[in-house]
Amino acid sequence: MSKRDFYEVLGIERNASQDQVKKAFRNKARHLHPDNMDSGDESAFKELALAYEVLSDEQKRSLYDRYGHDGLSGGGGGFEGVDLGSFADLSEIFSQFFGGGQRSPFRRSSAERGADLKYDLNLEFLEAVFGAEKKISIKHLEDCTVCSGNGAAPGSGPVTCSTCSGAGQIRQTAATFLGHFTQVLTCPNCNGEGTRIEKSCSNCKGRGQIRKTREIELKVPAGIDSGARLRIPSAGDQGKRNGPAGDVYVVIHVSDHTVFIREGTTIHLKQPISFSMAALGGELIVPTVDGEKLIKVSAGTQSGTTILMREQGVPHLNNQSRRGDQVIHLQLQTPVKLSAEERKLLEKLAELSGETLSKPAAAGNEPAKQTSKESSAKAAQKQTAKDSSSIIDKLADLFGSKDAGDAP
Ligand SMILES: [Zn+2]
Ligand SMILES: [Zn+2]
Repeated sequence: MSKRDFYEVLGIERNASQDQVKKAFRNKARHLHPDNMDSGDESAFKELALAYEVLSDEQKRSLYDRYGHDGLSGGGGGFEGVDLGSFADLSEIFSQFFGGGQRSPFRRSSAERGADLKYDLNLEFLEAVFGAEKKISIKHLEDCTVCSGNGAAPGSGPVTCSTCSGAGQIRQTAATFLGHFTQVLTCPNCNGEGTRIEKSCSNCKGRGQIRKTREIELKVPAGIDSGARLRIPSAGDQGKRNGPAGDVYVVIHVSDHTVFIREGTTIHLKQPISFSMAALGGELIVPTVDGEKLIKVSAGTQSGTTILMREQGVPHLNNQSRRGDQVIHLQLQTPVKLSAEERKLLEKLAELSGETLSKPAAAGNEPAKQTSKESSAKAAQKQTAKDSSSIIDKLADLFGSKDAGDAP
């Protein structure tokens, strides 16, 4: 363990009050606790717990303030060699902070809950919409069947540790400038177990557990989305010494779809429509998650108009009989290439609507805010160039298509 400054570990000032020490520990502990699936970090947590143990104790804190880490280590081993087992009172601190020290990693020599495991599951877009049955393989720890989990070779059961007489801890008194200072250390002979194995089980190398792959059938509910977590109770690592098994958390990742864009229970779809369809109206076939459906487009439809298809969206996760909607975003497609005949028809259309497609340079078509003569002349030039080059732009304007270019 590196010797980071304890104040730095807790992220507090040197003159922090006991209240601030407590608060800082509580905030960071919740974040780093090994039971926290997302941000748990056992070694950082141990470091934090050590910093808290020292700074929350006035006597230890003043020793630390005066002599740094050396002030605490005394002659024998010191805090550097201290591990989880020595925090006799930390599980109490824990239950005080988090309610019940049950899942604290500081319990030892008794039943211990197995670790939670995380499994990342990738789903196709439609699998997430309608739900799916998935087979997943979890690699978790199980009790070794040869030694029944105690790690001892058959016929050579574990024996009580002679160093600590089965307590799992030893007391060590160190002399410091301020007198004697007693530390409780994990027994180095048995690593806090209180028992020792004379002859290790060859199947699990004395660990008592082995990692095995287990297949689990998982029912993914309809309407699930990226980031959701499904809990499979007791599918995690089996507990040590008959402790309860941990859980498996399946984290869902949903792939994007080529045409559908999901927003909660709503599905958005960009649907290009032609000029003629927008102007005259008609019927269109559009994709939905249930297959193709017919929609009506009314005459004079503007680009960007949305059409709501009720209950064609994603089922509600907590009420599968309800479904969200699908929203069609109509995007006017401006033709890029015109045949001579099409061109003629469109020119005729412009003529009928009394539109002049090319304007003289000084027609006063420049933006209203122009003030200087020079820039207004430039703008006029630009405007002319635009007018002559892009009949299509004008036609698009005619149909109110300002964002036709956004169509996929
Ligand atoms: Zn074994
Ligand atoms: Zn021992």
